[in-house]
Amino acid sequence: MLIDSHCHLDYYTPMELPDVLARAAALGVGEMVTIGTTIAQSRTLPGLIASHPSLWCTVGVHPHHAAEAEIPSPALLAEMAAHPRVIGIGESGLDYFYDRAPRDTQAENFRAHIRGAQLSGVPLAIHARDADDDIAAILREERDNGGDFDFLLHCFSSTRALGEAAIAMGGYLSFSGILTFPRSNELRAIARDVPADRLLVETDAPYLAPVPYRGKRNEPGWVAHTAKVLAEVRVMTPGALADLTTTNFRRLFKKTAGVVSTSRPHD
Ligand SMILES: [Zn+2]
Repeated sequence: MLIDSHCHLDYYTPMELPDVLARAAALGVGEMVTIGTTIAQSRTLPGLIASHPSLWCTVGVHPHHAAEAEIPSPALLAEMAAHPRVIGIGESGLDYFYDRAPRDTQAENFRAHIRGAQLSGVPLAIHARDADDDIAAILREERDNGGDFDFLLHCFSSTRALGEAAIAMGGYLSFSGILTFPRSNELRAIARDVPADRLLVETDAPYLAPVPYRGKRNEPGWVAHTAKVLAEVRVMTPGALADLTTTNFRRLFKKTAGVVSTSRPHD
């Protein structure tokens, strides 16, 4: 079974969602994580997934939205992450490609999310675009000040240097449909070299559909195409790659393995 570690299911209508999930199941994608991008939207996600036992969610503020509302406190993020179906914090990070929020606001938002992950013990899903040096520096500073925390670089498409820095700090790298694009030779070379126990796959659906669906609206089931390319790059069978990434997912997102029980019961 494959797990889509990062998608945006709130982009599909309630009418569409059951079909999206059925098509994913038919492709061997049994679970998926739908991602928080603002606090208001994050509050709706446990309800969105409530009737689908194969779905999980995270809570957080995307760097694009960092200046739109008050930056959440680490305590608020940790409190929201205590819900049994909330398995991570994020996505948060830095995006210097679009620069939709001032960089210092993005940094403050990112640090709040790291501290929320430290408080709650759930992993942080990090969005990093054209901000490699600052991502690595903030991760190091916050770790030195507040202790270890689990994290993944979602939709990894950064430099080898950031990938190696993340791995050295215990982080995971999640590969998306970008891995399948013809020009992604350097990314495939990085994916070949990542330690086996740090690999995850995702779609970032509805964005970034993999080959052969590039340009279409992406779906969680299509993580199978990214996984197929990753298996080729790693010289593994698709089945072994699925087992590996699912084992890694359970180790990182401990709540999905039933290892960590939340301290505060909710609904
Ligand atoms: Zn992202």
